[in-house]
Amino acid sequence: MDVEWAVSGAIAGLPAGAVARGVVHRLAVPAGEPDRGCPVCGGRVGWTGRCCGRALGPRLEWFTAAVVALLAARFAGRPELAAFAFLGVLGVVLALVDVAVERLPDRLTLPAYPVVVALLGMTGDWAALGRAVLGGVALGGVYLVLAVLRPGGVGMGDVKLAGVLGLALGWLGWPELVLGGALAFVLLAGVGVVLLAARRITTRDALAFGPFMLVGALVAVTV
Ligand SMILES: [Zn+2]
Repeated sequence: MDVEWAVSGAIAGLPAGAVARGVVHRLAVPAGEPDRGCPVCGGRVGWTGRCCGRALGPRLEWFTAAVVALLAARFAGRPELAAFAFLGVLGVVLALVDVAVERLPDRLTLPAYPVVVALLGMTGDWAALGRAVLGGVALGGVYLVLAVLRPGGVGMGDVKLAGVLGLALGWLGWPELVLGGALAFVLLAGVGVVLLAARRITTRDALAFGPFMLVGALVAVTV
């Protein structure tokens, strides 16, 4: 654990978290509906998430700061930190939106592909970048098969997120890719059993899969 990098990451994560909560406020709406506006004036909310003198959306600043601090400590000073910090902030937004409305908007997942490839490419490590692309194709492919086999379980939003996470996990290596991919299912099963036992859900409910994919990837990246 690199304390200085963790502190720097936390400091950078606070303003990133302020933007993240604004994005969650805007995009946590059912598919096809316009972005959520300001509850006071009804106007359009900018990406800073502020309108009518207050910050909108869930309080994500400290949570985002903790995620970025963890990643900054893990990649202390290494050139791929930018890509992983970006994915950490994006992951916070995606997890919150998925929990709220059970979808992972294309507007968040699709632009992540060129951003992550560009940030990883800036490191100049072409062997790792090639493995990252293969990892994205592999994990995205597995989820695509699952989405075709069980349309009600895994959705196309999950497939697009899997491709992005596959890039990051593949960059680190094949063991990380397998671990991160498998952890999502282990976590889903574990949480599902607990919620079933507590009668919070029934066997007919489908849990949003995105948060489990994201937490699984974060654990595989940092452990
Ligand atoms: Zn307003």
